[in-house]
Amino acid sequence: MLQLRPGCECCDRDLPPHSQEAVICSFECTFCRSCAATVLKGRCANCGGELVARPRRPIEKLEKFPASTQRIHKPDGCRAAA
Ligand SMILES: [Zn+2]
Ligand SMILES: [Zn+2]
Repeated sequence: MLQLRPGCECCDRDLPPHSQEAVICSFECTFCRSCAATVLKGRCANCGGELVARPRRPIEKLEKFPASTQRIHKPDGCRAAA
């Protein structure tokens, strides 16, 4: 099950589970669409893997399967990839 992390690792922008702005790599490193497109050029800052749109979890499922609240913010990795 996806963790649905709460924010972008680059800019720390909020990415709620229903956000269409979230993209993830296969390890679920999580970024916003604008960082993915501009800073990262479609590649994960941590593993170099491709970034794809994160599927949204239906609101009614979030009660039973809540999104992660553990915020990961690693702006250094994003600068290195730029
Ligand atoms: Zn971002
Ligand atoms: Zn990654």
